[in-house]
Amino acid sequence: MLRLFASHHGEPTFARGGIHPDEHKELSADHAIEPFVPRSVTVPVSQSLGAPSVPVVKKGDRVVRGQLIASDEAGGVPVHAPVSGIVKSVDRGIHPVLVLDMAITIEAREQEDEPTFQEQPGWETLPREELLERIRVAGVVGLGGATFPTYRKLMLPDDAEVDTLIINGSECEPYLTCDYRLMLEQAEAVVLGAWLIAKIIGVPRCLIGIEDNKADAGAAMTAAIERLALDRSDHPVAMEVVVTQTKYPQGSEKQLIQALTGRLVPQRGLPMQVGIVVQNVATAFACLEAVRNRKPVIERVVTVSGRGIHEPKNLRVPVGTMIQPIIEACGGFDDEVVKVLAGGPMMGRALADLNAPVTKGTSGLLFLTRAETNLDRYQPCIGCGECLDVCPLGLEPNKVSQYVEVGRALETEEFGPLECFECGCCSYSCPSNRPLVQFMQVAKAAYRHEAAKQRTHA
Ligand code: SF4
Ligand code: SF4
Repeated sequence: MLRLFASHHGEPTFARGGIHPDEHKELSADHAIEPFVPRSVTVPVSQSLGAPSVPVVKKGDRVVRGQLIASDEAGGVPVHAPVSGIVKSVDRGIHPVLVLDMAITIEAREQEDEPTFQEQPGWETLPREELLERIRVAGVVGLGGATFPTYRKLMLPDDAEVDTLIINGSECEPYLTCDYRLMLEQAEAVVLGAWLIAKIIGVPRCLIGIEDNKADAGAAMTAAIERLALDRSDHPVAMEVVVTQTKYPQGSEKQLIQALTGRLVPQRGLPMQVGIVVQNVATAFACLEAVRNRKPVIERVVTVSGRGIHEPKNLRVPVGTMIQPIIEACGGFDDEVVKVLAGGPMMGRALADLNAPVTKGTSGLLFLTRAETNLDRYQPCIGCGECLDVCPLGLEPNKVSQYVEVGRALETEEFGPLECFECGCCSYSCPSNRPLVQFMQVAKAAYRHEAAKQRTHA
């Protein structure tokens, strides 16, 4: 049972800013992961940050679950058939983040020659290059939502001095409980996945950061660490669960690193610069399945929640499952839904159309009612300073918003739009309801546009 109002007993956290939004995790936290297989899937070929993958199947092809359907030859990550069946189309479709994207639609039909993804003996002792290659061909991306190709993050440069792996089990976004359920139900697999990553990057220490509102998940992970005794394996790794305060955005990389190790990643710098690699718990699980079972990323756990949905759930769905059948699998709408989000309420994307599929990066689908959303118009800044207090980076979104409003976006660099990681703490706290993240995004886009213009004229 999730402890929603855990008291803080001096657990670590990041030093600056942050907020304590209503968690709403009780809606889905006690719902164990259930499989759900739809009648068809529509799989966008853009499943990672960067270039899209290239379709290698055509209409009418018969595919089996796990077969390559889009390759990474031009960038992106390999994409595989999440279900066996017949390719119905390779065409443009709605993407939850990119709006429109090429997508492969497969009508599900069971096939006799489906792979079962059994454990392959000897996986623990494979050389590092083979481990990395298995993660690459399985199309593993950061499943916390960042969707950066995992093998690239694990291919450290020769001069990198990394000593610690951090596994991110914070799940600090309200409503979301998919990582929580994974840690409870698959603790050993997540710990094994973490060990595997530690072995690939060659570090002797792994810290697993979990907020104190998920104490039982922390206990499950600690028990798994003790059972597996990976400190006595061929690559000994000292693993430890570190319970942090529950504070948003504890799960963002730089904040988690500071909470767990006290190290400060430089502005616009990478965790590697302070000797750390961070991976999400679901990504660790996916890495294990990629290496041990040769199973590509063809499904993921999605939290379906919000007061608008009849029965919130944690569903394991094939990538490409459309939102409409997921709504039906959760009993339809109970109340008037005024907003649908892919991801959490702080950093997720609003969806304008329910005709969109789950991608590798979809951690949640939230169906929010009027009572759960703030649709009020925004007002002028009253200079209260709340946004400055809560920003984990000490940026000045109030100033950026005022400059952007009068068309002076390119005069805001000193107030930090280029450092902003869009956590949303400022917008959440503003009594004038100002959409400060969006103002930061506008300023950021203006600087990017300007830089591109200058490159063209150079
Ligand atoms: S969205 Fe950006 S400006 Fe706002 S609190 Fe987060 S980092 Fe700071
Ligand atoms: S929180 Fe809103 S009203 Fe207060 S200073 Fe920031 S922008 Fe202005």
